[in-house]
Amino acid sequence: MNLLYANETPGALPPSWYAHSAAPFPPQPPLEGEVRADVCVIGGGYTGLSTALHLAERGVRVILLEAHRVGWGASGRNGGQIGVGQRVDPETIARLADEGLARDAFVLGRDAALYVRELVERHAIDCALKPGVMYVNHRARFDAATRAHAEHLAKAYDHDAVYLSPKEVSDRLGAVEVSGGMLEPSGGHLHPLAYARGLARAALAAGATLHEMTEATAIEGTTVQTARGRVLADRVVVACNGYLGKLLPEVAAKVMPINNFVLATEPLGERRAAALIRDDLAVADSRFVVNYYRLSEDRRMLFGGGESYGWIFPRDLKGFVRKRMLAVFPQLADVKVTHAWGGTLAITPTRLPVWGELRPGVFNASGYSGSGVALATMAGAVLAEAIGGDRRRLETMARLPVPAFPGGARLRQPILVAAMLLARMRDAL
Ligand SMILES: Cc1cc2nc3c(=O)[nH]c(=O)nc-3n(C[C@H](O)[C@H](O)[C@H](O)COP(=O)(O)OP(=O)(O)OC[C@H]3O[C@@H](n4cnc5c(N)ncnc54)[C@H](O)[C@@H]3O)c2cc1C
Repeated sequence: MNLLYANETPGALPPSWYAHSAAPFPPQPPLEGEVRADVCVIGGGYTGLSTALHLAERGVRVILLEAHRVGWGASGRNGGQIGVGQRVDPETIARLADEGLARDAFVLGRDAALYVRELVERHAIDCALKPGVMYVNHRARFDAATRAHAEHLAKAYDHDAVYLSPKEVSDRLGAVEVSGGMLEPSGGHLHPLAYARGLARAALAAGATLHEMTEATAIEGTTVQTARGRVLADRVVVACNGYLGKLLPEVAAKVMPINNFVLATEPLGERRAAALIRDDLAVADSRFVVNYYRLSEDRRMLFGGGESYGWIFPRDLKGFVRKRMLAVFPQLADVKVTHAWGGTLAITPTRLPVWGELRPGVFNASGYSGSGVALATMAGAVLAEAIGGDRRRLETMARLPVPAFPGGARLRQPILVAAMLLARMRDAL
């Protein structure tokens, strides 16, 4: 089954609050016939758009192909939370690889979060960007490790994250089943689709060519085939993340598409909203299947969580996510859910991303494992830098240990479903 079309009408955005509230983006013409480019980018999410923007700024002739509309994939549907660092902490990377790589990868990931702010400012992207993410433990027994982690980050990296006691968390959050946590001032949140469209506008202004409704069907050398044309390029950047399918089999064996879901409630009003989340923070909890939530600009609860590993989204999406929301905020039982939608992301066995030049002239960045708002944006800058000749940061990221899933692309899904059932039981206990 092709995830590009499994749950969707071609070219149509999902019925999300984001699609409802973002400023429109003018359609870009599909590719017709044969064209030449220095670089062909496949995929119009943050990875592809940021790559196109940074290449065009360097004067590179870049053509981006997007199967639907820009921001149609995870980049236009996600929780909008700007995480800091990599999806796994530097202590874990040091155990899997070495201290030096852990440091370089953490610093790059921290820079990524700050770089999102810089890009938003530089290109005047109107996407309701707010600072601050709070990670909260759903079990008090995790608090000691969180405190030790915050202290390690402060000591080893002079990082500004701080441990929060259970009281400091509950002063900021009106949720049940929370204990201590950690505040990341360098993180934040934004309107994900408005951000994606802002990157697309900036890429166009810098001279990139974007073709929507144009699926790349094959990569032969550095030529990209589409249904009605092809791009003869010197280099190709594959930026398809969870929607990759079979386009690049060596990456497909390492990344696993999974679906995740978000809802928006009706506006709650200032007072009720502030009793739920203070200081406009984004929040994510410590469950293996993470709950993540924040307030929209018009004071809706935007609540995400609940993964599925089959290809098809649950039929009653509103009910599916609402159940999770009420377990955290029972006081929202009387509130109407106005929008619910799903999206597909890509995870890897170590939850570290897959970046690099995989075949001569063919680059990839994907597998952000739920932490792509900042990292995918940064991937574009780093890929453009590498294509421009400075490969240092790409080589750092390419060294991160990401093995293939056991059983490769064919067996990865049934094995993961079994593993996730166990993890879900652990969350419940
Ligand atoms: C519900 C949900 C919530 C999430 N929440 C967060 C969060 O709060 N914070 C965070 O950091 N991350 C979050 N993520 C993950 C984050 O959204 C992704 O990591 C990030 O958007 C990846 O960007 P991308 O450009 O690599 O991929 P995508 O945005 O998925 O873009 C890939 C694009 O490639 C196109 N494409 C694929 N194949 C082809 C082809 N053959 N030809 C042409 N085009 C093609 C697709 O149509 C798609 O538009 C979430 C993801 C989901 C689904």
